[in-house]
Amino acid sequence: MSRNGEWATSQSRSFKRLALPHNGYREGVPGVEVGSIVVLDRQAWRVLEIKEKPEDLWPADYEAAWQKVVSRWIEREAARAAGELTPWGTPLSAQAEPVRSEWYYRPVNVALQHVDKPKSKPRHVVTAPAYEWQTLPEHFVVCRLCHELPPCRHAETEDTVNREMEKAERLMAIPRGACLGCGETITSRMKAIRFPGPNLWRPDWGKDSAVFHARSREECSTAVWKYERQWKAQGLNVLNPRLPEGEQSSSGEGDRAA
Ligand SMILES: [Zn+2]
Ligand SMILES: [Zn+2]
Repeated sequence: MSRNGEWATSQSRSFKRLALPHNGYREGVPGVEVGSIVVLDRQAWRVLEIKEKPEDLWPADYEAAWQKVVSRWIEREAARAAGELTPWGTPLSAQAEPVRSEWYYRPVNVALQHVDKPKSKPRHVVTAPAYEWQTLPEHFVVCRLCHELPPCRHAETEDTVNREMEKAERLMAIPRGACLGCGETITSRMKAIRFPGPNLWRPDWGKDSAVFHARSREECSTAVWKYERQWKAQGLNVLNPRLPEGEQSSSGEGDRAA
């Protein structure tokens, strides 16, 4: 069962826990019920059944986690009886003994069926009442081509490719010698950072040509940061002991006309 940090559909959805008592929410908050549509593995599923797992049939990982909860409580009660104090020097407060059937990480059987395949074999998952499901309304959106929930894998790939292409086009449009961050000219009065070695972003410019404005403007400073990371990752800072530093883009001697 996936946890937080999992993929989320980009359409309107709401997060709900199973509509069971002791799910970690206050009573009365609407939850996932039989008939609800939920998201799992990028697909939409109809909930067929929600059933508490009998206490003698808990999966080993749930049982082990529960035993830890119990032993933590026992340890704490022992410490409290022994007169131990909190790190702030106050007495430990009494805690209610954990109740197995009310623990909101207890295992629950949930039977699901692919929402568009009402004759398909149900899928059974074990999850805790505290798990937050993405739930969808009856009228939800799927991709016309692949029937996945948005963003489908194709759209995600396309987005990445488009972003990369935009980036490459933008870089290719920068005139030689201009800042590889903002694309603007670096005048002789501006401070610049030049990276020695091959130019990683515009190899066609030749050696020692990667240059950026040394200023706090985001386009320039973010680009410096990204370039420096790539430059170091390729070991170019080792091959080029001359570290980039703020330097005048002109030497200041020859080209200042009198
Ligand atoms: Zn698609
Ligand atoms: Zn710039």
